[in-house]
Order: sequence, then C-alpha cells, then structure tokens
Amino acid sequence: MFPFFSSSLSSFFFFSFSLLLFFRPCFPARPSPGSLTNRATVLTVDEINATWHQFEKLLDVNKGSHVSGLSELKKYFNSFGYLAIPNTNFSDTFDDRFESAVIQYQSKLGLPVTGKLDINTVSQIMLPRCGMSDTHVFHTTRHFAYFPGEPRWNRPSPMNLSYAFSTTHMIRYLGPSEIRAVFERAFTRWAAAIPVTFYETDDYGSADITIGFYSRDHGDGQPFDGVLGVLAHAFSPESGRFHLDAAERWAVDFGTEKSKVAVDLESVATHEIGHVLGLGHSSVKEAVMYPSYIPRTKKVDLKIDDVEGVQALYGSNPNFRHHQCIYRWNQDYKTTPMTLLPLDMGSLNWFLGLQLPKISTLASAIVLANPEQ
Ligand SMILES: [Zn+2]
Ligand SMILES: [Zn+2]
Repeated sequence: MFPFFSSSLSSFFFFSFSLLLFFRPCFPARPSPGSLTNRATVLTVDEINATWHQFEKLLDVNKGSHVSGLSELKKYFNSFGYLAIPNTNFSDTFDDRFESAVIQYQSKLGLPVTGKLDINTVSQIMLPRCGMSDTHVFHTTRHFAYFPGEPRWNRPSPMNLSYAFSTTHMIRYLGPSEIRAVFERAFTRWAAAIPVTFYETDDYGSADITIGFYSRDHGDGQPFDGVLGVLAHAFSPESGRFHLDAAERWAVDFGTEKSKVAVDLESVATHEIGHVLGLGHSSVKEAVMYPSYIPRTKKVDLKIDDVEGVQALYGSNPNFRHHQCIYRWNQDYKTTPMTLLPLDMGSLNWFLGLQLPKISTLASAIVLANPEQ
C-alpha cells in the first residue's frame, strides 16, 4: 500500500515530524504519528510532477558519465538560463559545461553548491515552478534580481496601472468573482509596498496588464507543459502579458479543492505580478519571487527581499510599514512546515545525522505536511 515507505524511511519521517511538532507548539489539530501514516495517501512522483518526474533517475549520476536522459536535463537548464548551447544539440554526457550549469543552479536556488546531482538538487529540479528564466537578469543587488536593463513601468506620478482578464482564455471551474478577488488581493499587496495602484478594466485591448489561462503552445514561444512543471509566466515591463497554464488545477480554497496537485492561484498571481513589475527570481526560499512552488501550499505575503527589490525600482509607498513585513517574515519562517519540509530536507538530515532518503520521499513529505490529509 505504501511502496515508498521502507521501515527506515518511516522512522525518518516519524522522527522528523516529531521534531517539527516539538519546535512548532501552535501546530493545529496535532495528529499522532501513528494516525499520520494511516491517513496519508501516498503520492507517486508521477502525480507530484508529471512533467519532470523522469529526472529522478539522474540522481547521483557523476561527472564524466554518459546516461540516457541527461540531454533532457540539459534542455531544462537551457530553458531556465543555466546552459547556453546555440544549436540545442544536447548530449547525454555529464561534461564540464553541465557541471557549471549545476553549480549555477544550486547557487541561484540557495542550495548547497556541490556541482553534483545530489538529492537536494534533483528534488528541487522536479518541483513545479515559474516558467521565467532564472538568470536573465542584469545584476543581483542582494537576493532579488531584475531583468536585463532593469525595465520598469514609466508613467506619470501617481502611477495607475490597469489590468484585464481575457474573455476567451479563462477557466470555468472557478467563478469570475473568485478569480477577481484573488487578483485584487495580489495586486493590493504589491501596491502596499510601492507608490503604484492597480485597477481592473473590461477593456482588454487597452489594459496595461493582460491576464489569461493558456494551454500548451499559445503563440509567444513559451509553450506550457500540462499538469505541474511550468505553472505560469509573465513578461517584463512594459509588456504586461501574464499567462497561467490552463492545465493546472487552480485553487482559491484548499478546504474545497481536494486535488493533490492543486496550485494556489493567489500565490502564483502574486509571484507573476512581481515579474510584471520588473522583478526577476530571488534566491531567498521564503521570498514570493523564489521560482519553485510546492503543490497545495500558499505563499502570498511579500518578504523583505521582495519589498526591497520592488522599492528599489519604484520607491516606497509612503504608507508602507516595514516592521509588518519583518513580523510576517518571522511568522512564516517559524510556522510554515510546508515550505520548509521538502526544501530543507538536506539540512534537516544533516542536523539529524541521518542518511538522505530516496527522492520519492519528496512526495511523502508533501503528504505529511498537507493539512488536508
Ligand atoms: Zn517567476
Ligand atoms: Zn505565454
């Protein structure tokens, strides 16, 4: 029934989860570890990420090896800005350039920099993520980053940007009012930090920011890939194009949306608005602008890194209170095991002195951290 649970693995999660409970006294409805495994529905890696599950087999492949499928990982690195090969003729050999790409990726994503396809790296690669490149940035001042040339919206002050939803490219299982409310909250969060306001308009043709749900190849050279994998992308200023993958199971409320691969619309909307405003990807895992996303989690509050990045482009909203951001940072950091568990498994294992588990425990970790299970 639980193909991924060896006895040592069960012990690992029993101990790990107990440790989290110990450090997190306000965890609601604390379950006993016994009932935890009984209630857990084990997900296969395919269910967690149908698009990139094949990278699991590349775990621990060493430099100099020639392994079928490595070319696909090279394509992945190429798509996200880590490997520039002009003719896209990717070989299956783990060569020097590939090692450099791995090092760049680890460095950008805030992982231990080993140059190897270790558990931390392969787990991170398999997570769903934003479709924007990680390294097409002009420079990184701190952890946040910008697009080449640091483009931003240039409008007379006070700056008001309009946004509109496509009438033809929407999803039907969420009500228009639910989707509107999500985006209004997401825009308001950014507007609280900078002297820019956003308003919705019905005039899609003249709106500054245009939002729609698209499938596969949709004409902008960045096709979507089905369930999970790439979730969304948005273009740098002053394009305003904001596209979400229609194949995802978008959620506004995990209480009613039970899909194991559900993606929180508000979290992704908040992230993509950051791109619309001119921010690139951050290497701070807790930041809204970090590129990866764990299904059935919510990350909507801007962190200090996000705020500093966007304020460096637009200045500060005079009403913005910085201490609120610090408070939220601390709260999120201390009380969000869903964010910490899969991404920090390496450091947790190091702390516990345990053998790293197989990558399939990534799926189990999400189940363990899932409050809906
Ligand atoms: Zn992104
Ligand atoms: Zn697109």
